[in-house]
Amino acid sequence: MAEALLIVDLQYDFMPGGALGVKGGDEIIPVINKLMGKFDYTVASQDWHPKGHISFASTHGKKVGEIIEVDGIEQELWPIHCVEHTHGAALVKELKKDSIDRYFYKGTDLNIDSYSAFFDNDKEHETELDHFLREKGVTKLYIAGLTTDFCVKFSALDALDLGYEVVVIKDACRAVHDEKGALEEMKQAGAQIITSR
Ligand SMILES: [Zn+2]
Repeated sequence: MAEALLIVDLQYDFMPGGALGVKGGDEIIPVINKLMGKFDYTVASQDWHPKGHISFASTHGKKVGEIIEVDGIEQELWPIHCVEHTHGAALVKELKKDSIDRYFYKGTDLNIDSYSAFFDNDKEHETELDHFLREKGVTKLYIAGLTTDFCVKFSALDALDLGYEVVVIKDACRAVHDEKGALEEMKQAGAQIITSR
């Protein structure tokens, strides 16, 4: 009955001033650092795209924010961000990484995006996160990071589907568009919403 902390996408491109900067994204770094070492396991996800990724507006010659359909799945188009091995894809240096046991990369396939740290958006491909957590006997997963309404939310919903007890630490997350709606949706699905205190 182990507990784990999942830190979602604390990367330079999601920090204010980054390619897909999230307002207040930097404010959660000290909040998360205080949580470090308090769990049996700590894991981190990174958005990690090849050049010309399907989620980039430029790939389609379209505008950021437009929504297209790819193989029946809605895809919101983003600025170029978190291209593998670039500075923008690196975890912020202020994050204390000593307690991080393992890193998981998502969105690595050119033709499908991945908001969740568990599955691609088509749910056909999965990262090794679920396998890792099961192997370690983790049943309760705390989630923090960016962003509340995309990668945190989709990771939380998948974790619930996979049978984990899910706790979202809301002051250790920031949203792109809609924090309130995302917290409500996660709560309705069975997640506990708490603050880091
Ligand atoms: Zn991405």
